[in-house]
Amino acid sequence: MLIRLRGGRVIDPAHNRDAVDDVFIDDGRIVASPAKGREPDEIYDVRGKIVMAGAIDVHSHIAGYNVTMARLLMPELPALAARKGVPIAPTPAAWSAFATGLRYAEMGYTTVIEPAVIPTHAIEAQRELSRIPIIDVGGLVILGNDDFTLGLLRDGAGANEIEDYVGWTLAHSKCLGIKLINAGGSAAFKFNARTFGLDDEVPAYGVASRTILQGLQRAVTALGVPHPIHVHCNNLGVAGNIDTAVATMEAAEGLPMHLAHIQFYGYGDEGPKGLSSAAPRLAEAIKRHANISVDIGQVLFGQTLTLSADILRQFDGRRAANPHKWEIIQGEGNGTGIVPYKYRAENFVNAMQWAIGLEIMLLADDLWRVLFSTDHPNGALFVRYPEIIHLLMDRDERARLLDRVPLEARELCNLPGIARELTLSEIAIVTRAGPARRLGLADRGHLGAGAIADVAVYTDQADKTAMFRSADLVFKNGRRVVEDGAVVDISWGQAFQVAPGFDTAIERKLARFYDRYYGVTPSSFGVPGTIAARPDRFQTVPCLS
Ligand SMILES: [Zn+2]
Repeated sequence: MLIRLRGGRVIDPAHNRDAVDDVFIDDGRIVASPAKGREPDEIYDVRGKIVMAGAIDVHSHIAGYNVTMARLLMPELPALAARKGVPIAPTPAAWSAFATGLRYAEMGYTTVIEPAVIPTHAIEAQRELSRIPIIDVGGLVILGNDDFTLGLLRDGAGANEIEDYVGWTLAHSKCLGIKLINAGGSAAFKFNARTFGLDDEVPAYGVASRTILQGLQRAVTALGVPHPIHVHCNNLGVAGNIDTAVATMEAAEGLPMHLAHIQFYGYGDEGPKGLSSAAPRLAEAIKRHANISVDIGQVLFGQTLTLSADILRQFDGRRAANPHKWEIIQGEGNGTGIVPYKYRAENFVNAMQWAIGLEIMLLADDLWRVLFSTDHPNGALFVRYPEIIHLLMDRDERARLLDRVPLEARELCNLPGIARELTLSEIAIVTRAGPARRLGLADRGHLGAGAIADVAVYTDQADKTAMFRSADLVFKNGRRVVEDGAVVDISWGQAFQVAPGFDTAIERKLARFYDRYYGVTPSSFGVPGTIAARPDRFQTVPCLS
C-alpha cells in the first residue's frame, strides 16, 4: 500500500534535510517518489506540520527484574497513567508493559532500548519486552560484576576467552549490546566496600575496576558489536565525580565507548556547598574524545523512583528515599537497588542537577554524540520528555523554572548565561538520528529511501511540551498507530539482538561453573528463540567487520 504524507516540513538531519516536501511509504518502508502514474492508496495532508522519523530511546528502564521489583515497592507511582483515556483494552495498570508501549507511541517514539538486562533474568526481561506493544525494543546485558568475568580477569584469561564469554552472553540473553555498571563496585559492595573508584580493586579477586572496563570494552570492540560498550561509571552522584568521568573517557584509549546518564557525573566540588557545575569541563572532554558518546540522564522536578544495578551507590542513596522505603538486592552479578525519590526545585542539589543536565546538552559541540535521555525513571519519567525538549528549545521556559530554584544554585550554575535554543533539527538529532547511529540501527532514525517507515507528525507550536506530548500521527512500519495523540491500532514490534558468535569451549567452562556454584546448567537461564508471540521477533543486527 502506497501512502503519501503531503506537504509537511520534513526534518531529517541524517540527510541534511529541513524543507517542505512529501514523504512516501510503501509496504512499510520509506520510498523515494513513486513511479509516474502510480497513485497513492492513502493521502494525509500534513501541510503546516512537522514530519520526523520515529524517535529512539537509547536508555530507558522498561522491563525486567529490576523494574518488577520497583513496581512491587512503589505501585502507587503514577508512572504511566493514561493522559486522556486509553481507547484500547486492556486498561493498563500504571506501570504495565502495555501502558509503556502506548505512552511512548503517543509521543512519536518507535524504538526503545532497555539498558540493564541481568543475564540470569534475561528470560524475564525479554518476555516482558515482548509484551510492550507498538515499539521495537532491544536489551543491553550487564557484565562486569559477575563472578565469571572477575574470575577470567583474575586468572589472566586471554582476550579471545573474554570475547567468547561476551559473545556467549549476548547469544544467551539475545541482547543488542553490553552494559557495564560501576565495574566491580557491586562485587566489592558484597565485601562491604562503600566507595569504589576506577583504580580500586575488587576484594578477593584483586581485579581493578579499570581492568574490567578495558577488558570488556576491548572484547565488545573486537567482536564488532555496533553499539559501543554502554558504561555506567563509578562514583555516580558524588560531588567531584567529573574527575571519574574524564578518567573513564581517557581509559577508553580512543576505542568507542558510550557513557550513560552523564548528568550524574557532571559534578564539581567547588563553591560554598561543595557542589558545582562541571558541565563546561564535561562538554569540553566530550568534544576532545571523538570516540565517546553520552546520554544525558536529565532530571526534572517531581516524584519518581531511582532504580539501578549500582547497589553500592543505591545503598548510599537510601537515606534520601522519599517516600521512606527502599530495597537493595545483592543478586548474582549486580543485583538491584530501588530508592523512591522526589526532585524538588527548592532543593539546592536537585536544582544544580537539573541545571547541569541542560548545560551539558546546550554546551555540546557535537550533538550526534550527546543523546537525549532521563535514564527513565531515574531522572524523570519518560512521559515527561516533552517538558525537557521544551526547556532545550526555549530560553524563556528555562528562565521560568530558574525563578523557582534557590538563589545560590542560580548563581553557581551556568544556565542563566546560556542563550542557545536547540532547533527542531537538533532535537531530531538527539532523539532520532544520533541514537540510531550509535546503536548501529541503520534502518531507522531517518527518512531516507529504504528506512523503516517509522514516522511521527507534530503540530508546530510555541508550547513544545504540548507539541511533543501528543503526535498528530505516528506510523510504525508504515501502519498508522497514533492519531491526534491517541493510540488507534495495536501492533507488535520486534527485538534486536547481535550474534557475534563464540568458541564453544567457553560453554564447557560455563557448564562446570554453573554446576559447581548453582547446581543448574546455564541453559536454564538462556532466552529461547521462541519466547515471543511471533517467531520473527528477534532481528539480528549485523556486526561490524
Ligand atoms: Zn540507567
